[in-house]
Amino acid sequence: MATVPESEVLERVESGLLIGGRWRAAADGGTFQVEDPATGRTLRTVADATPADALAALDAADAAQTGWAGVPPRRRGEILRRAHDLLIARRDEFALLITLEMGKSLVESRAEVDYGAQYLRWFGEEAVRIDGSWKVSEDGSARVLVMRQPVGPCLLITPWNAPLAMPARKIGPAVAAGCTMIVKPAAQTPLTTAALASLLAEAGLPDGVLNVVPTTQAGAITELLLRDGRLRKLSFTGSTPVGRLLLSQAADTVLRTSMELGGNAPFIVCRDADIDAAVEGAMTAKLRNVGEACIAANRFYVDATVAEEFSVKLVARMATISVGPGTDPDAVLGPMIDERQRRRVADLVDETVAAGALVRAGGELPDGPGYFYPPTVLTDIPKDARITREEIFGPIAAVNTFTTEEEALQEANRTEFGLVAYLFTRDLDRALRMSERIESGMVGLNRGYVSDPSAPFGGVKQSGVGREGGNSGIAEYLEEKYVAINVSSR
Ligand code: NAP
Repeated sequence: MATVPESEVLERVESGLLIGGRWRAAADGGTFQVEDPATGRTLRTVADATPADALAALDAADAAQTGWAGVPPRRRGEILRRAHDLLIARRDEFALLITLEMGKSLVESRAEVDYGAQYLRWFGEEAVRIDGSWKVSEDGSARVLVMRQPVGPCLLITPWNAPLAMPARKIGPAVAAGCTMIVKPAAQTPLTTAALASLLAEAGLPDGVLNVVPTTQAGAITELLLRDGRLRKLSFTGSTPVGRLLLSQAADTVLRTSMELGGNAPFIVCRDADIDAAVEGAMTAKLRNVGEACIAANRFYVDATVAEEFSVKLVARMATISVGPGTDPDAVLGPMIDERQRRRVADLVDETVAAGALVRAGGELPDGPGYFYPPTVLTDIPKDARITREEIFGPIAAVNTFTTEEEALQEANRTEFGLVAYLFTRDLDRALRMSERIESGMVGLNRGYVSDPSAPFGGVKQSGVGREGGNSGIAEYLEEKYVAINVSSR
């Protein structure tokens, strides 16, 4: 249970735009409302940034860039470490805010606070390990000095499904590398980002380094910023269609980009798998974040010889999941983000069932209020059903079967996405063989969870470009510069 009263948590959050260290109203005084998906009530009214505000934020980020890049790495790292400690100390307060605006249960929100904080700590440690290199040129006439410098002002665009972890995963490396930034949070969940920005200021982040522009005009603001030559990098987490659009806009200014896009994760259960462990892995990979996660298991492929055992056990586990407002301590599965997402998921299920799939659990829309959808298991999925091609983004497990390893691999790879794949097998040869052939940036081997600050998170194919976290995460925010030093042969 959260220890801080809800009204206090909401009142404490800044409702303005953060530009140059000052919270202020939008240039035209515009505002928009943030809704609680469990009840539909308004939580807060926040400032709605205009294109003029976005340019003011870029002015601030640009003005702060040179000074910030000159701040010693240890100091940048210590700010992140302090922010980590403050976040952990206020875990319950942040968790409540996440649950209120996004819907997931408090248990999950607390885990997200810890996960987001770990990125701040990890990149705080990386700040002092930015290295370069020195070597003698091939013909001996020069020395090759390679330094790594901050890219410059960044635009960081985040989705609503992890309102703390997604900004933390971008702000952490940007701060560590010495970049200034503008964060554009999702319009549905700007409150947690505002609270995180206040916390970073408290931890010592100088004015202008982090600017925050919640808005309902994402397209107009972003396009303007991408066309401004002062912006040096875009880091985006969101859907593949929006990612494609932003990549095309970023091409005009040949902007550096990092793209964390949609997924369509296969979850493969081989005949030699520990079925109970696979079911537990499936529960995590499917229901975490109300199924609204880029790394959610989307298509289950189970060896036909164990498919019925797996489905029966999965249905039994799903039946233990209580659905309710995330603030209810007994609720495991909170509401979906809004009615549009819930309707989309319900239509997808109805369409699959009309085409011949069997509903083994769930599948019925509960009465309101709130945007709840029950944990659902479908089997006998028709080949090529839309549910196997599209990202479901909801608590629905679509169980398909396979008979050979080759068939499982072909089905798993038959998608334009390539973020993560889950594989359950006790055969080491099979595990390595299949992990190598699966087309994804990450593989969860006998594990339904891959998120880890020390690991490179990201996808291949149309799931993205670049990595967040791990040893490569900070490189996304650094440019290499090479100085050729002449050495006379006298
Ligand atoms: P989305 O619709 O693409 O929105 C993501 C962000 O982009 C939001 O801040 C949104 O602002 C903004 N946006 C929307 N249209 C834009 C435009 N024309 N120009 C600039 N910005 C624009 O995605 P979502 O529904 O929030 O998030 C779900 C998607 O994110 C899923 O596909 C999921 O797989 C993906 N995701 C990927 C990862 C990863 O690491 N690979 C992690 C989490 C989520 P508004 O809120 O104002 O629309």
